[in-house]
Amino acid sequence: MKVLVVGGGGREHALVWKLSQSPKVSKIYCAPGNAGISELAECVPIPAGDVEALQEFALDKKIDLTVVGPEAPLMAGIVNKFSAAGLKIFGPSQEAAEIEGSKALAKEIMEKYHIPTAKYQVFIEIEPAIAYIKEVGAPIVVKADGLAAGKGVIVAQDEDTAVMAVKEMMEEKAFGEAGAKVVIEEFLEGEEVSILAFTDGEHVVPMVSAQDHKRIFDGDQGPNTGGMGAYSPAPVYTGEIAQVTVEKILQPTVAGLKAEGRTYRGVIYAGLMVTKDGVKVLEYNARFGDPETQPVLMRLETDLVNIIEAILAGRLCGQEIKWSGDAAVCVVIASGGYPGHYETGKPIRGLGQAGPEAYVFHAGTAFRGEEVVTSGGRVLGVTASGKTVKEAINRAYGETEKIRFAEMHYRTDIGAKALNRK
Ligand code: ATP
Repeated sequence: MKVLVVGGGGREHALVWKLSQSPKVSKIYCAPGNAGISELAECVPIPAGDVEALQEFALDKKIDLTVVGPEAPLMAGIVNKFSAAGLKIFGPSQEAAEIEGSKALAKEIMEKYHIPTAKYQVFIEIEPAIAYIKEVGAPIVVKADGLAAGKGVIVAQDEDTAVMAVKEMMEEKAFGEAGAKVVIEEFLEGEEVSILAFTDGEHVVPMVSAQDHKRIFDGDQGPNTGGMGAYSPAPVYTGEIAQVTVEKILQPTVAGLKAEGRTYRGVIYAGLMVTKDGVKVLEYNARFGDPETQPVLMRLETDLVNIIEAILAGRLCGQEIKWSGDAAVCVVIASGGYPGHYETGKPIRGLGQAGPEAYVFHAGTAFRGEEVVTSGGRVLGVTASGKTVKEAINRAYGETEKIRFAEMHYRTDIGAKALNRK
């Protein structure tokens, strides 16, 4: 079959890598892809958000299956449009994907279906929002309702910071329409874990757990990023917590979405906080997470195409999904200055030397002639497996050290939390 993967980051490289292992797949296209992806797929220069051009391409090339990586095309209704045109596509519809696109909607659904989450209020006017902050006090969390490229969440340690965040979002319109509505919620203390799950709209099969590292510097210091690394499994996610997550979070979420006329097919991502009062939802994403997908897919033993076909046919419950018992770790190498200003076009040395049980997923890379150069903030996701998290960490850092480009930056403590816990 001919497959089209939409997107061009580390997550999409991992998807292309996994799909390329399927005996059912004869050809992969990736739009727009990146330098690393081009080793496994034919990259086509169509931006991930250009749904019309993607549809035209899929019809023209008679694509048998499209797999969507990022959220933007999902919110733009790529799944609705492809399906209406008779094209097979894997991902939630626009209505279902709104669980990520509107944090207020996500909170309403959680409240209605009794899914554990932080206490909250939604505001469309600034004065009541400020009054609420003063009433509840800090620490408190202010969230822009819509998508804000990972920057729309302010965890405020004092009231002034929270009030400033509200003003920036609602008065100065720092995130445009995405901040016209804000969610203000209770600060939750605990350890975070990401759970991705397959669902056909009714049945839910969680994947193995993962933990992301959002801050730019070691020890969770500095500003938030798209994610500086991840490891799987996350020891904080015990068997007991896993059971509660399925019964009290994943199943009611999927059933609730169905009851709301937003039947969800695809991969749903729950960002969870394990608190002393139990596990609670921080956010949903309507897609594979990045970088969690890299270590999680490295552990997937079942053919991903079989799982996708089962979901599209509505028979996920009969589908076997096997995972490796090994651990996997992904270390992201970023451009110096990221998540602020950074330069691109730096030649990358030391690629193509990864040993077995390791893979260098490309995120922000491009070709300049024959040379691979940096083209984004997050550049590479060096991912390795091992019998234990420790072995996977050592292998991933061993591979990371082979790579060089000017002003590169990576965290040196990816996975350390997992080791400290044992
Ligand atoms: P991304 O796009 O990276 O997934 P996002 O912008 O959608 O993120 P969230 O994941 O909702 O934002 O929040 C970002 C981070 O803020 C979380 O990973 C968590 O560390 C912190 N956070 C969010 N909500 C809370 C809360 N109620 N209490 C404490 N921390 C929180």
